[in-house]
Amino acid sequence: MLKRIVNFFDTKTLTSKPLVVDANTYGINPASMSKDAIKVVRTLQKAGYEAYIVGGSVRDLLLGIHPKDFDVATDAQPAEVKSLFRRSRIIGRRFQIVHVQLSRELIEVTTFRSNEQSNGTTVASRSTQMQQNESGMLTRDNVFGSINEDAQRRDLTVNALYYNPTDNTIHDFTNGLEDIQNRIIRMIGVPDARYREDPVRILRVIRFTAKLGFKIEPSTAKPIAKLANNLSHVSPPRLFDETLKLFMSGKGSVTLSLLRNYSVFGALIPQADRLMNNGKSNAKQLIEQAFINTDLRISSNQRVTPAFIYAALLWPEVERLSNQLQEKGNSATYALSKAASEAISRQIVITAIPKRFTIPMREIWDLQLQLPRRGGQRAKRLLEHSRFRAAYDFILLREQAGEDLNGMGEWWTQYQESDEEQKQAMSDAAGKISGKKRPRRNSRKKKVIED
Ligand code: ATP
Ligand code: MG
Repeated sequence: MLKRIVNFFDTKTLTSKPLVVDANTYGINPASMSKDAIKVVRTLQKAGYEAYIVGGSVRDLLLGIHPKDFDVATDAQPAEVKSLFRRSRIIGRRFQIVHVQLSRELIEVTTFRSNEQSNGTTVASRSTQMQQNESGMLTRDNVFGSINEDAQRRDLTVNALYYNPTDNTIHDFTNGLEDIQNRIIRMIGVPDARYREDPVRILRVIRFTAKLGFKIEPSTAKPIAKLANNLSHVSPPRLFDETLKLFMSGKGSVTLSLLRNYSVFGALIPQADRLMNNGKSNAKQLIEQAFINTDLRISSNQRVTPAFIYAALLWPEVERLSNQLQEKGNSATYALSKAASEAISRQIVITAIPKRFTIPMREIWDLQLQLPRRGGQRAKRLLEHSRFRAAYDFILLREQAGEDLNGMGEWWTQYQESDEEQKQAMSDAAGKISGKKRPRRNSRKKKVIED
């Protein structure tokens, strides 16, 4: 503990020295890194700047994980970086970075930044470069600083390691190496202030905990539940992107339980969280199963779409609203459409799901009403529907989650595997059954799928 406190204050001073280690000790050498990232570092160094490979790629290589992308940090300012690379452009306003394209890969180059406000020392002359709103959130963050300051403004100790390919060294300002060894997720600085500055850091803590299978250090974990509602200050498009990183990471199940255990899920998808908590419907089973299935698909390199996962997340609420509307005498089709609009409009003010996903979500839901009707030429036509496959997977998901759909999933599985003649026989038989058993249109208490 004492060591931690000493280190904490030590790393706050600009003169403190990082721990510099030979990367060979960790089995890392320039050949482990992307050639393009190394070229970017060398070009910057040759021009007289400091430059390092930093962030997730160093962390992942230390853990034997294949890095997703490579980030470079430098003391060159964005315009100076841009002038060194032909195919490069400055992007972002809140946080300017330079995208450099050499061959195939895009390398993100960030200039060392300072984060003085979270240390409690606001520098007036810098206020136009760095802005905070009433809740302590950083709305602009372009104050350049030293490498040490840059390490302090990063989120997690494990994300603040700097690799220099020229002498094959790792520079550690925040005890990140030790935390990697002990498998600990620790926020740099004062967690409460760091979450207030950027509530997305809450999601990053959860995401990396799930991805790496680490433990969250107690003082990093403590403020999360209290500050989760600050996520409402984050712009809905950014929050939508962050939910995709959480849900489609291949570790969706672990992520979901972490989000729920730390009381964060309700700030992201409140309509799902409420029903998962009240235990009245099978919302919990359905949503948990959706994440299990998504993880399995990712691990077997099958395609996953945000539309499917969001369709599952909102389905219990859509069903609930739809049932309510039917009880008031509306048709199943009308009720479902109204319920879908309602659930989507409540969600998109939190996470801005683009239309290219809400449209297929509605189609998947709509097909839940169509797939039970298989008589005549219907089954054949449904099979040709562009969203059939997702809707069929959704039927299977509902059955896996414990819903009794009269063997509908199995019927469609068989139908798809049958030849033309068998298909016709199946449709004819289904037509007779549904002809006989079809319930009255506005009968009370019926379920959506029975119409
Ligand atoms: P991955 O790319 O594997 O998801 P990463 O750690 O590289 O993980 P990026 O989002 O690419 O994550 O960010 C690069 C680096 O920038 C991080 O490692 C971290 O040091 C820093 N960073 C990113 N987002 C934040 C944030 N919200 N607050 C502070 N630092 C951040
Ligand atoms: Mg990255």
